[in-house]
Amino acid sequence: MNDILPDQSPLWRYLESTVERVLGQYAYSEIRLPVVEKTELFKRSIGEVTDIVEKEMYTFNDRNEESLTLRPEGTAGCVRAAEEHGLLYNQVQRLWYRGPMFRYEKPQKGRYRQFHQIGVEAYGMGGADIDAEVIMVSARLWQQLGLANAVTLQLNSLGSNEARSLYKSALVDYLSGYRDQLDEDSQRRLSSNPLRILDSKDERTRLILAEAPVLTDYLDDESREHFATLCGHLDRAGIAYEVNPRLVRGLDYYCKTVFEWVTDELGAQGTVCAGGRYDGLVNQLGGRPTPAVGFAMGVERLILLLEALECFPASLRVPLDLFLAAEHKGLQADVVALAEQLRNALPQLRVMIHCSGLKNINNKARQTGAPLIVLLKQDPEQVLATLWRGEERSEPMPAAALIEALQATETACRS
Ligand code: ATP
Ligand code: MG
Repeated sequence: MNDILPDQSPLWRYLESTVERVLGQYAYSEIRLPVVEKTELFKRSIGEVTDIVEKEMYTFNDRNEESLTLRPEGTAGCVRAAEEHGLLYNQVQRLWYRGPMFRYEKPQKGRYRQFHQIGVEAYGMGGADIDAEVIMVSARLWQQLGLANAVTLQLNSLGSNEARSLYKSALVDYLSGYRDQLDEDSQRRLSSNPLRILDSKDERTRLILAEAPVLTDYLDDESREHFATLCGHLDRAGIAYEVNPRLVRGLDYYCKTVFEWVTDELGAQGTVCAGGRYDGLVNQLGGRPTPAVGFAMGVERLILLLEALECFPASLRVPLDLFLAAEHKGLQADVVALAEQLRNALPQLRVMIHCSGLKNINNKARQTGAPLIVLLKQDPEQVLATLWRGEERSEPMPAAALIEALQATETACRS
């Protein structure tokens, strides 16, 4: 679990505000959900024999002996809330959420026990257009963040439940011939959850899988058509993708479309965003059958990617615009008062003051990185301010003139 320190938080805010802007373009509304839910909810939605439920959840009993869990993902809670508040009744919903998720995993670069996701969920729409829309949301986001060339889209269809169970038996038949050579988890999954074996990271298992039957050959007509329509939408939007018939997701609730955005820049933890269609989940959790599609992106991995590629405005690293100090301590009251005047006149300006006196601006003031530095000094009659923009230095002037000069600069910057 990580602290996000002051030199990191501007990058987080930059990412979050970019996401917010893009989601606004597609008219998605934010939903804020609790961090804790009943354990039952995750068992029923994610699936009993998934990595998450088997070994990654932070589960505890509260004082009332009720089993609760720190949410390992956002979709289950989102469905629970939408259902509980009647948001899914005879209407469509386009929702998004953000926040910390918790999984007891082996920590490594890009994999943490408390991590953050931003997720998108769309309910009540069964057509491939909405699958395309959520993918377009993510594609536009990569574009806005300057990451478009660093990520690729992997796409697959898991088909209907019937198609999947046909495929499952074919896969089990094939893998049973290699039972002894599979990794331990996969051997166990052969009877509990064979599809998840496709997601195994074990090298020997992956070799065996290379020759395994592929899901695509078992797809039902409706899923096939849905997938073809989706591909058509993406082609027309100019969004490149790679059909990966072995792509499955780590959670049980997906059907039809699944997708992942992956990058080569982060080593083994290359998936920055993952999602798909989950038409069965609302019904499975007690609601009416409701088509649904969504995705979640890993904020830490996106931050790592932005840093690795230096894809952010350099100004993000500078926490202030103007540093205000005086030659000596005696001018403390003037510093405090002028700073407030500046904040009144220029609400966008980030002003930091230094009251204990400063002989020259070459040390402290420069170190702050502020593009604007103001130094006050006592002239016989009045206090005067000198404004530094880099090496360029103004004549000493009274406060009113300083404010005017800064306002002029701001107007010039804006236009
Ligand atoms: P992985 O295969 O990397 O374990 P997953 O299938 O478990 O991922 P999802 O549950 O689909 O991941 O979560 C969506 C995204 O959240 C992932 O693609 C990843 O970017 C991020 N994510 C998942 N688990 C972690 C974690 N422990 N630490 C940081 N980010 C994570
Ligand atoms: Mg995982």
